[in-house]
Amino acid sequence: LLYNQVQDLKGNIRVYCRVRPFISNQVDGKSTVDYIGENGNIMVVNPHKQGKEARRIFSFNKVFGVNASQREIFDDTQQLIRSILDGYNVCIFAYGQTGSGKTYTMSGPDIQTEGTWGVNYRALGDLFKIARSRADIITYEISVQMIEIYNEQVRDLLVTDGSSKRLDIRNNSQLNGVNIPDASLVSVNCTQDVLDLMKVGQGNRAIGATALNERSSRSHSVLTVHVHGKELVSGSILRGCLHLVDLAGSERVNKSEATGERLKEAQHINKSLSALGDVISALAQKSSHIPYRNSKLTQVLQDALGGNAKTLMFVHINPEVNAYGETISTLKFAERVA
Ligand code: ADP
Ligand code: MG
Repeated sequence: LLYNQVQDLKGNIRVYCRVRPFISNQVDGKSTVDYIGENGNIMVVNPHKQGKEARRIFSFNKVFGVNASQREIFDDTQQLIRSILDGYNVCIFAYGQTGSGKTYTMSGPDIQTEGTWGVNYRALGDLFKIARSRADIITYEISVQMIEIYNEQVRDLLVTDGSSKRLDIRNNSQLNGVNIPDASLVSVNCTQDVLDLMKVGQGNRAIGATALNERSSRSHSVLTVHVHGKELVSGSILRGCLHLVDLAGSERVNKSEATGERLKEAQHINKSLSALGDVISALAQKSSHIPYRNSKLTQVLQDALGGNAKTLMFVHINPEVNAYGETISTLKFAERVA
């Protein structure tokens, strides 16, 4: 199906599930994923039960198994990216517990080859390529912002002077997608520019964190690409934006173990992920009230969630037996928004 046909059937929300492979240091090859159907079904098996009761099927727009390449993941995303240059707003999310492959999907691994490039890099590459191919009819300006939401506070990740003042959100329909006008907005001309900026962003994420990985799993990172096009003949302007969101880990913390800072982080993550789920499921049900105001995340993304905007969520599954509980809650979350 072409994206537009899917849109007619399903509204503007798509959910893809991706199962990550066992990684080198994991010896237990037993998987909780029993079966993946062509038609977007995934069957998981409860390792603590036997027989028919142990099995459960969930359905999404598509399910990618452990052998899916970064290229294949992107092939099904490409159509969406193209629509940004036609003036649509798009959100792409990576959801899942820590270690399930969110950052791998969005950014790729730390050491990159062409084959491992993530959605972010490929999306930007496509945007530049298509923009150039239209240069004789439309001139495009492309600029990016990169922010982090940690404990319901928004931080600019593209500051170069080490400052980290809190940013306010101001939803302004005139500015389509520029909901954090005080965050650095940097003009980019090629994918290398974006890669350089992402390095700056990663560096800023680490500030004040005990360990980068720890911090990054407890904050949402949002890379926003703003596209401003001007048609040469008519002079008319079009604006589109793309939010690429690597969400905080969705794992629930054990209430008896978490205290202090950790508990506060967990509560903020919980609140914002459920606010996101509430917004997307309200949109999917065409509800008249969309509860954007319940979290910073949904406020930042407001212009790109609902209306004509398109949403794609990648939900990530870690197939290890000891991740089963989280796998089920991830699949339930995803089923609610699908
Ligand atoms: P998350 O961002 O959800 O915490 P990561 O993306 O960091 O998870 O993935 C955890 C580990 O698994 C990393 O070492 C990553 O390189 C690896 N990994 C995740 N997905 C894949 C995949 N599809 N293929 C190969 N390795 C993967
Ligand atoms: Mg990550």
